Amino acid sequence: MTPPPGSVEEARLLLASELEEAVREAAARGGLLPADVQGLRVRWLGKKQGVVTALLTRLRDVPKDEKAAFGAGVNALKQEAEERLARLEAEAEARAAAAAEAAKAVDVTLPPRAFPTGRLHPLTVVRRRIEASFRGLGYEVADGPEIESDWYNFESLNFAPDHPARDAVDTFFVKGGGEGRDALLLRTHTSPVQMRTMEGRKPPIRVLCPGRVYRKDDIDPRHSPVFHQMEGLVVDEGITFAHLRGTLAAFARSFFGGRAEVRLAPTFFPFVEPGVDCAVSCVFCDRKGCRICSYSGWIEIMGAGMVHPNVLANGGIDPERYTGFAFGMGIDRIAMLVYGIPDLRLLFENDLRFLDRTW
Ligand SMILES: [Zn+2]
Repeated sequence: MTPPPGSVEEARLLLASELEEAVREAAARGGLLPADVQGLRVRWLGKKQGVVTALLTRLRDVPKDEKAAFGAGVNALKQEAEERLARLEAEAEARAAAAAEAAKAVDVTLPPRAFPTGRLHPLTVVRRRIEASFRGLGYEVADGPEIESDWYNFESLNFAPDHPARDAVDTFFVKGGGEGRDALLLRTHTSPVQMRTMEGRKPPIRVLCPGRVYRKDDIDPRHSPVFHQMEGLVVDEGITFAHLRGTLAAFARSFFGGRAEVRLAPTFFPFVEPGVDCAVSCVFCDRKGCRICSYSGWIEIMGAGMVHPNVLANGGIDPERYTGFAFGMGIDRIAMLVYGIPDLRLLFENDLRFLDRTW
C-alpha cells in the first residue's frame, strides 16, 4: 500500500531508498566519502530546507486530533535519519582514514626514486691515482700555503732576480708583503712545499706536493689562472739521474699501463741541473701516432731534473753529501689526457652534466 503523499511514512521510505541508493552508487568508487554523507545530512536534517524540517513546519496544518501522532512520527523519523547518517558517517571517516594511511605507506612495487649522490671530481680522482702510484714507491704527501713569499716561490729555487716569471705580468702579487724576497704572491708552482720540506727535516726525503697554483693566464680551452700541480722530491745520499729515470718509468707503467715507456729530452728549469722534459709513449695509439699525441707517438707529461746544488743548500741540505731529483706535472693536463676532456674550463665550471659522471 502506497503511503499518502506528504506523509511521514512516505518520507521514511524515501529516506531508506535514498540512503541505500547513495551507498550503492558510491560502491563503484570505493564507498561514501565524508563529504557525500554531509550532503545527505543537509538534505534530510538541514535547518532550512531539510526534509524533516519541512515536515515539522507542516505540523500546524495537521488536524488537531492527528497532531500528536504526526509529531511523534516526525520525531521518530528524525531520530532514524540521525542514526542512519551517523552510521554512514562513521564508515566514511574510517574509509578516508584508511586511504590516508595507505597513501603514507611504502609501496614496495614502485621503482626507487633516484637519490642524488656526490661523486669525486675528476681532478681528485687523478690526484689520488698519481699519489697511489708514488705511495707504492715510499712517498708521502706534503702540503703548504698557497700564499707564499718570493723567497720560497722564486729566490730559494734559484730563479734569477730578472727571471720573467717574477714579473707582475705573470705572477699575482699580494698586497701587504715586503720587498724583494719578502714580497707576497700566489704560488706559481708547488715547489715552495719542497723547499719547506727540506728545511724541516733531514734526508732521506721522498715527498709528493699536490696543490693549487696560480699564474696570470687568460682563460681559454688550455689555460686558466688557477690550475693544479703535482710535484715530487727525493733527496738522499747517492741519488743519481738513473734513479730519476727509473722512477719516472715506474710511474708511467703504474699510471698509464704496463706498456708505457718514457722518453727524456734536455731542457732548462732554474731549480734543476740537468733538467728534462718527460714524455710518455702514447697509450691511445701505441706509438703509431694519433690525434691525441699529435701523430708523434709521445705525449709530454712533466718536467723533471736533478735538484740544483743551490736549491739543496737553500733548503739547509749539504749538496756535497746529498743529491736529489724533482719532477712536476699538471694534474689538470693529465686528467684531460686520460679522460679525453677537450676543454680545461669544464674542470672549473661545476656543470652538473659534467660532474655527474663516474670518472
Ligand atoms: Zn697517439
